Amino acid sequence: MNQGQSKVDIMTETKTHIYKCLKCGKDIEMDINTTKKVICRYCGYRILEKRRPKTKKRVEAR
Ligand SMILES: [Zn+2]
Repeated sequence: MNQGQSKVDIMTETKTHIYKCLKCGKDIEMDINTTKKVICRYCGYRILEKRRPKTKKRVEAR
């Protein structure tokens, strides 16, 4: 079973969304490819606010 290379293709697009639990206020990162229902993994609350995905925002530090 040795074929020399074990090549793992990880080029599949991962769509991750950030949700914020409205109960405990934690940010939950969800992979929508594997997750169908959105539930807080900390407290189990089901109402989560969808946030924007990670964007590179330039903030000037003074
Ligand atoms: Zn929660």
